Amino acid sequence: MRDMAEKMMTKGTDMKRWFKRQLAAAAALAAVAGAPAIAEPLDYYLVQGTEYDQTVLKPAEVFGHDIGNQPVRHDLMVAYMRQLAEASPRMQIETIGYSHERRPILMVTVSSPENLARLDAIREEHLKRSDPETADQASDELPVVTWVNYGVHGSEASSMDAAIPALYHLAAAKGGKIDDVLQNSVILITAVFNPDGNARRSAWVTQYGGKLRATDPMHEIHNQVWPGSRTNHYLFDLNRQWLLQTQPESRAWLTQWHRWRPQVSADFHEMGSNSTYYFHPGVPTRKYPLIPARGRELLVEMAGYHQATLDKDKVLYFGEETFDNFYIGKGSTYPQVNGSLGILFEAGAQMGIAKESDQGIKTYAKTVRNHFLTSLSTIEGAVAMRASLHTYQREFFETGLEAAKDDDVTGYVFRAPEDPMRLVKFLALLKRHQVEAYRVSGTIRAGGNSYSEESYVVPMNQRQYRMAKALFNRITEFPDKVFYDVSGWTLPLAYGLEYAAVESSLRGKLGAVPSDEAILGVITPDEAPYAYVFKWSDYYAPRAVHRLLQAGVMARIIKNPVSVQTTRGVVSFDRGAVVVQHDLQTVSAAAIHGMIEEIARKDYISVHAAISGHTLEPGSDLGGRNSVADLKEVKPLLVVGGGYSPYDAGEVWHLLDYRMQMPVTLIREANLRRADLNRYTHIILVGGREAGLPKLVSDRMKDWIRAGGTLVAHTEGALWAAKTFTANGKKDGKKKDGTPERLSYADKSQKDAEHVIGGALFESDLDITHPMGFGIVRRAVASNKNSTFALPVPKDPYAQVAVYADNPLLSGYASEKRISELKGTPMLTAERMGSGAVILFADNPNFRATYLGTERLFLNALFLSAAFDRSFADDAAAMEEAMDEHAH
Ligand SMILES: [Zn+2]
Repeated sequence: MRDMAEKMMTKGTDMKRWFKRQLAAAAALAAVAGAPAIAEPLDYYLVQGTEYDQTVLKPAEVFGHDIGNQPVRHDLMVAYMRQLAEASPRMQIETIGYSHERRPILMVTVSSPENLARLDAIREEHLKRSDPETADQASDELPVVTWVNYGVHGSEASSMDAAIPALYHLAAAKGGKIDDVLQNSVILITAVFNPDGNARRSAWVTQYGGKLRATDPMHEIHNQVWPGSRTNHYLFDLNRQWLLQTQPESRAWLTQWHRWRPQVSADFHEMGSNSTYYFHPGVPTRKYPLIPARGRELLVEMAGYHQATLDKDKVLYFGEETFDNFYIGKGSTYPQVNGSLGILFEAGAQMGIAKESDQGIKTYAKTVRNHFLTSLSTIEGAVAMRASLHTYQREFFETGLEAAKDDDVTGYVFRAPEDPMRLVKFLALLKRHQVEAYRVSGTIRAGGNSYSEESYVVPMNQRQYRMAKALFNRITEFPDKVFYDVSGWTLPLAYGLEYAAVESSLRGKLGAVPSDEAILGVITPDEAPYAYVFKWSDYYAPRAVHRLLQAGVMARIIKNPVSVQTTRGVVSFDRGAVVVQHDLQTVSAAAIHGMIEEIARKDYISVHAAISGHTLEPGSDLGGRNSVADLKEVKPLLVVGGGYSPYDAGEVWHLLDYRMQMPVTLIREANLRRADLNRYTHIILVGGREAGLPKLVSDRMKDWIRAGGTLVAHTEGALWAAKTFTANGKKDGKKKDGTPERLSYADKSQKDAEHVIGGALFESDLDITHPMGFGIVRRAVASNKNSTFALPVPKDPYAQVAVYADNPLLSGYASEKRISELKGTPMLTAERMGSGAVILFADNPNFRATYLGTERLFLNALFLSAAFDRSFADDAAAMEEAMDEHAH
């Protein structure tokens, strides 16, 4: 950061020359895109009665068009923000991270020049307020810290582009009002929250833009093809990622958010075109229970500032319907469990520049203006509420500590000795949320088990009590049954950790967390005299196996638990140990050892060197006939497009391509008829409202399965596959009951929601002796459930690999009726069909890249689909018959 005085001096001539060049480039672009015939007045986004500094760069000077007449391209937005901030004494700009596609994510800090000159000191003193130990040292005179997110959803044009007039106003407005705002607040603006999604949208709208505005809602400009532009590159909804933190964009902002602990956090969105304008507080009854009542009172007070602003502009709005404060992974709710006010704004959407709605034509320019106005009412409201926000933030953390003292639970212990990588990932997640964790010192008794030094503990007595509680809590009782997003997210369950609530004192039990390297404890592999052996339960074991198979190295998997004699003594392995022998390899021993070293280094796996093929258990030698199966390279085809969910498909893509580093071919459903299926070993069908394939394709798939292909499908894709490919019946396997009733219309929304399962954690009993269960050491597995159908029960008695437990609801909401329908039905089935297999999941095992427990089941379906046998010839014949029958 340059010295402030110098910056103010150079802001003149250099910048002007630069702008001229930019303007010429932008004008050329605008000429190509074609400016629409109807233009909003140039100053539609200015605040009436405010005087603006005319030397400050206007948006049109960089974009070549006014805001509201054309979508704003991300690179030009970056150019505008950089030049504006570099020139303005009221702004600092930094790159806080990069998207998957390497676009920068920028944060602009706005305040008075005097505050910016001592910004670090302000931040340090401000942070003291949110720690009960230092809270009294933070002066009440400090500026309020306000955070504004623009455009987490790339398709929601106005929610991103409103950043431009907001930044312009903050840089150019003159007078007492803006001086008061700048002096009494630090404003943090992340204007380009989801740059990759934004780029897809602006390219689409530009491409279909013409000389005239296309307002017909059916025009292509308003209907972007699959996967749309809401999500990031790997199709993750970034507004679910505040909690889960699996994507680089969300990690970038959360780091900055906690670096500042803002007191107000605004989040801008769009909703359906027929809706007007929404802002929080939200539905009163739908609030996460750990959000203090005072938090809502302040949200109601803040809403008064938005109401006053929008009343003046005669804008229709609502504030206590539809949207809620329950799932804490959203940008407007996460702040509320972290001592801040979170505010959701939603404007009626138009993907293009203008669109017909039930209330006539709505323009993008108008939605930009509305978001711009409430950006200012948020910033100004925060200044007006500064004293109460200071008090609230201090009290939030003090009352958190008091609640921790009253809590019967003193902490949560967890462990995963079979896969330390999952522990490392979980500990990193806790750190991102500033939740303190410790290594267990001595032994802690909890949940009927002893947890010792391989375990970790999160004590409740800490500054982040509410956040810690929200990560571990299991809530299954709710006053309101409508959820905007998931109702349960207990993270140790999602990560597949063994965990328990502790009710005894943690005094003397809290040790320092060792380094990741120490937790992983990867051994340097010895050269193997006979064969290499490693565990399948390690997180990156599938990646390691792929590394070997792709290089032409043979690898096998042992179906029984074995004890192997190694260069470092006897080592015991659970089912699924991977063997890389020297015998019969076409790759040299030196090359294999090189790859084994790479596996230790890059996949964090301890590889053991066996000295003999003889194992200590009878019947499972390393060269075994029935007890060992060959592993084959996996070449998966992922069906995308059509009625398939972009989220579900993106999760598979992210898992295989990004994390497991395995090529996966994405083929649009419409192109499947042209694809040579024999190039692929597995076809993956995910969920989606209209999951399924045309008959022509499914007929070809039947032949492909008979010849050895494996179909892996989940949720709606699995239901369709069960009906199409298996002998288990064509209907949903759920027991039906249909008694007509008469209900009061006033109860409709609750009644409609009553039997929906919108994301709850369900427990299944997993057959860990089945190859589909290898790598998982506990029979109870937790999956995310967001559907209500039941998979049909296969005739093969060994094919029900996982079934829902008798009391399956672990966390979140599901009605008694749904629970009784679903308990005991299959969560995972695996059947042979001809030389191939059909493997079906009732739930999405890869949900939001966070269910590391069930993700392994999905990888098993790819790697171990040939490692299990059919049960009876009779059933096999019946299945073949069923396939034939469907073929007609
Ligand atoms: Zn949105």
